[in-house]
Amino acid sequence: MATRIGFLGLGIMGTAMARNCLRAGHDVTVWNRSAGPAQALAEAGARVAATPAAAAASGEVIICMLTGPDACREVLFGPAGAAKSLGPGKTVVNMSTVSPTFAREAAAGVLATGAQYVDAPVSGSKKPAEEGTLVILAGGDAAAIDAVEPVLLSMGKKVARCGAAGMGSTMKVTVNVLLGAMVASLAETVRLGESLGLSREALLDVVMAGPMANDLFRLKDPMLRAGEFPPQFPAKHMAKDLRFAVGAAAEAHAPSPLLPVLEPLYRKLVEEGLGEADFAAVFNVLG
Ligand code: NAP
Repeated sequence: MATRIGFLGLGIMGTAMARNCLRAGHDVTVWNRSAGPAQALAEAGARVAATPAAAAASGEVIICMLTGPDACREVLFGPAGAAKSLGPGKTVVNMSTVSPTFAREAAAGVLATGAQYVDAPVSGSKKPAEEGTLVILAGGDAAAIDAVEPVLLSMGKKVARCGAAGMGSTMKVTVNVLLGAMVASLAETVRLGESLGLSREALLDVVMAGPMANDLFRLKDPMLRAGEFPPQFPAKHMAKDLRFAVGAAAEAHAPSPLLPVLEPLYRKLVEEGLGEADFAAVFNVLG
């Protein structure tokens, strides 16, 4: 069944996801801070709203796919924010990666308007977003998640139910510790091997031929071979997500001995001006 969607945020991920909502036959109104990406979506059949409030007025389901908490706070609760148009019968689905603390804060702000809030960050980067095969990590009221599931499945292949609002974000930042650690480990293996006199190609050939090969390593393998890191998942987002993981671990007094090693590596990437590169560029700060 076609749903009226207000889609806020058309970056790498949002553009692909909004396109898949259109392909699935939904009625999509988009808004983006800068005009270019919205124009491209208009050519694919979306309506363009002048403000987040206007996009939210025309949607039953309001999807956010923004950088992080600051952008979400502005777009949801700022002067022309979506909250101005929220009320019973509407659901905000926040698919941006935010801290669990912000997800709970945003849920409270949205619920106060009478609308529903679903915390729904995604696992998977540009290619799964384009292919509609994201894994969606949903937190919130179970009936509210059920109600938006058909819309979520226009963008993803699976909706994982994680618990209350905030637990989708908890799942996301936790899983990204694994993601960051896997890619940093592969990058360090290549750096170490080269330092010990092995050729990069021979080393990656061995990793990719054996039981350690996996889809993630297959995505990063060509980047490491070429020493070029076109963004699939920008390093600035990995640095942000690991900062959220550090915060969540500290708040819960949860042991995570790898995080204090991992988080500064990706932070350094951003500090060295490589925030827009793919996070596999962590290779460049290892030696
Ligand atoms: P992106 O390409 O950097 O796009 C960010 C979007 O947020 C753009 O639409 C940008 O608008 C908007 N934005 C930023 N600050 C804003 C503000 N203050 N007010 C209004 N709009 C603002 O990011 P992305 O790669 O699509 O990622 C979006 C989210 O998904 C992030 O939370 C990221 O961590 C998460 N995520 C990304 C991936 C990935 O592989 N890329 C994978 C999983 C999850 P402009 O166009 O005007 O700059």
